Amino acid sequence: MLLFHKNYDIMSYYFIISQIPTVDKSFFERGVSCVVTTLTPFLEQRGITLHGVLPLSECRLKRPYLLTRAGFDLTAPDGISVLLFAVPYLTKQTHEHPGLNVSRYAACEDYHLFFSELFAAWLPQLTAAHPDARFAGFADHSPIDEVAAAAAAGLGVIGLHHLLLTHRHSSFVFLGALFTTLPLTPTRSPLPPEQQRCHGCGACLRACPTGCLSDADAPCLSALSQKKGALCEQERDLLCRTPLRWGCDACQLACPYTAAAQKRGTLYTTIPFFTRALLPVLTEEALRQMTKEEFSRRAYAWRGKEPIERNLKL
Ligand code: SF4
Ligand code: SF4
Repeated sequence: MLLFHKNYDIMSYYFIISQIPTVDKSFFERGVSCVVTTLTPFLEQRGITLHGVLPLSECRLKRPYLLTRAGFDLTAPDGISVLLFAVPYLTKQTHEHPGLNVSRYAACEDYHLFFSELFAAWLPQLTAAHPDARFAGFADHSPIDEVAAAAAAGLGVIGLHHLLLTHRHSSFVFLGALFTTLPLTPTRSPLPPEQQRCHGCGACLRACPTGCLSDADAPCLSALSQKKGALCEQERDLLCRTPLRWGCDACQLACPYTAAAQKRGTLYTTIPFFTRALLPVLTEEALRQMTKEEFSRRAYAWRGKEPIERNLKL
């Protein structure tokens, strides 16, 4: 899954990484030991063990109106903290399925539902325990640049494919963020911002079927598979470069962080939401037989039935 695709100057990038000194790798290997003992047990009981805290004043705001709507006073950002957490979603069954034809994130039910359920259970508990504090939860459509904030909070580094790379689960994580006026102790990365990057081995660039990580004019298959309307012949040919008919995982699969997490035994999720209702092989027949409710719970539903139906015919 690639959610963010942007142009960048690759020579500058390699210049930056060549300047990185040896860092305390053990920091990332053990993960952030979050001091927010009143908040994190809720996450840990649910299999979410990688989390960290950053003051809002150190986050890049992308959609400040979301926080204003949630009742936060943005004129005092120092009084707002963000608890960032990485939710592993990959299962062995999906990862190793020989017939897999949708991106690994789409083989389980839509992760937006997971976060809705999580925050629906968590926020009332938090408000009851801390009635003077304000809380709001976001995932994906977030007020901040979540990847940069998670790296700054020490959850991992940013990969050349623009995803957060964690030692524990590689990039196969969804990011969530809890905003609160409760005073929390920050857990900052030991790396300065310009060094919160992977080592730049380039394996993802070489594995990318379209070259879009080094050529801003080339399309990302993840975005292309979600495009509405008819595809031209060239687009159809591009989509057929991998067996996946929704999304693309090639850059994440090639990344040495993924092999390392698998070897370490921490790549896979233990969260029931992501291990149930798996559909690693989607057929036209299976799609036809889904009820409206069943279809609405799949990650490809947000674009309607037409794009996924069209892709399955390729
Ligand atoms: S490998 Fe390339 S096309 Fe596939 S998700 Fe990554 S950037 Fe997109
Ligand atoms: S494959 Fe290499 S360059 Fe790409 S994200 Fe992983 S570590 Fe970074």
